[in-house]
Amino acid sequence: MRAKVVELDPIACDGHGICHELLPERITLDDWGYPIIDRRPLTDDLLAHANRAVANCPVLALRLKTVELVIDERMRRGGRGAA
Ligand code: SF4
Repeated sequence: MRAKVVELDPIACDGHGICHELLPERITLDDWGYPIIDRRPLTDDLLAHANRAVANCPVLALRLKTVELVIDERMRRGGRGAA
């Protein structure tokens, strides 16, 4: 199963904070105004917001990356060790 996650280029980021305003569900800011990315997969309802955050970063420091989700067999069975 595939999903998209937000990725940050920390070298390019200038700490404008626009991304946090557009996608607070996945991007918080540290004490200096630099983003902290929550790399959990984006849900369908967040994709448009994530695309807007990527498009509005003035230094192109954000992108969406497609990742393959690996589902632990224990989680699939709902057994011990499942989150
Ligand atoms: S909008 Fe871009 S430059 Fe500004 S904090 Fe977010 S990633 Fe960094």
